[in-house]
Amino acid sequence: MTHCIFCRIATHEAPAQIIWEDDEVLVFHDIAPQAPVHILIIPKEHLEKLDEMQTDHQHLLGKMLFIAKEQAATLGLKNKGYRLVINTGREGGQAVYHLHMHILGGRPLRWPPG
Ligand code: 5GP
Ligand code: ZN
Repeated sequence: MTHCIFCRIATHEAPAQIIWEDDEVLVFHDIAPQAPVHILIIPKEHLEKLDEMQTDHQHLLGKMLFIAKEQAATLGLKNKGYRLVINTGREGGQAVYHLHMHILGGRPLRWPPG
């Protein structure tokens, strides 16, 4: 059994509020939302972080970005605006080492981030 929580969510072994999925990608609610809308987009394949991506992963990364804007629209963020984040590595604030993209919205977001 894998100890990666996002792999376990991807295979439905661990519970999550799933919004959308296909055979490659899963979208679900973050367990500790930092904004009124805070969802995560992950590849179902266990890929640790953005640095691990190879040329072959370009389609997957583009697909995740496309799904992000589709989901943002579905969640009513299109006109208000929103933020996509991929925390990468220690100083990037990555806590879960399974690649994920955050979609944050529903309130004004400050810049720069902390
Ligand atoms: P990171 O800092 O790695 O970019 O963010 C990891 C995110 O995953 C955090 O926002 C955290 O709240 C979320 N998270 C961690 N464990 C779980 C979990 O078991 N279920 C869900 N839905 N989200 C999680
Ligand atoms: Zn994983």
